[in-house]
Amino acid sequence: MNGCTTGRISSFQTLGTLDGPGVRFVVFMQGCPLRCACCHNPETWDISGGKEYTAQEVVSRAERCKEYFGENGGVTLSGGEPLMQAEFASELFYLCRKRGIGTCLDTSGCISNGRTERLLELTDYCLLDIKYTDDAQYRKYAGCGISAPLEFLGMLEKKHIPTRIRQVIIGGLNDGEDNLKRLAEIAGRYSCVERAELLAFRKLCTSKYKKLGIEFPLENTAETPQKTLDKLQRTLDMYIKKL
Ligand code: SF4
Repeated sequence: MNGCTTGRISSFQTLGTLDGPGVRFVVFMQGCPLRCACCHNPETWDISGGKEYTAQEVVSRAERCKEYFGENGGVTLSGGEPLMQAEFASELFYLCRKRGIGTCLDTSGCISNGRTERLLELTDYCLLDIKYTDDAQYRKYAGCGISAPLEFLGMLEKKHIPTRIRQVIIGGLNDGEDNLKRLAEIAGRYSCVERAELLAFRKLCTSKYKKLGIEFPLENTAETPQKTLDKLQRTLDMYIKKL
């Protein structure tokens, strides 16, 4: 790996604190095969969009933030779906490791193959979306079956990669107790899962959809109040504890 492989990137965030352990340099990759109804980054969907960078160029940018990373921080690959450009992602993580920079993958887990498995060999931490626990909802509101992220979770388990499961709570879709019970059951089944975290559905992205001329399927759905989210998180934690 010589750092010359190129990847298409939508944007960078220099000091992220919500995208993995510690302080992160976040790389939002271009391209995603899914079409989640709640997606807040529709500008990343088109694999031919964004700008091309070499892995070496990206790691050089990340290195400028190294002093802020501390013990746990580092580079997070988000998107879009970083698994779509797994070879570039592997090269970037390889260069990060060589420079003592931690690597985190923020993914929908929708692609499991040899290339993505190799990427996991260079991944220190994973943020994995389990968008719904019902297969029909998964297909309708994300664009793949639930078996895809579960297969990916199986690879994370096999490689003992510490993982945080995340789910965006959307009123009327996945805010019921049954969903929380099933999510707790998934979290409990895999020893690599160190936490299951619920996130609030937000509509800050509405203007992006308007600008792109794309319909936002959840435009008329209410945002999830923080109070509701906190209550659901407590319930989920309780179910996990009881397992
Ligand atoms: S996987 Fe992520 S980037 Fe892709 S459509 Fe879903 S939310 Fe958007």
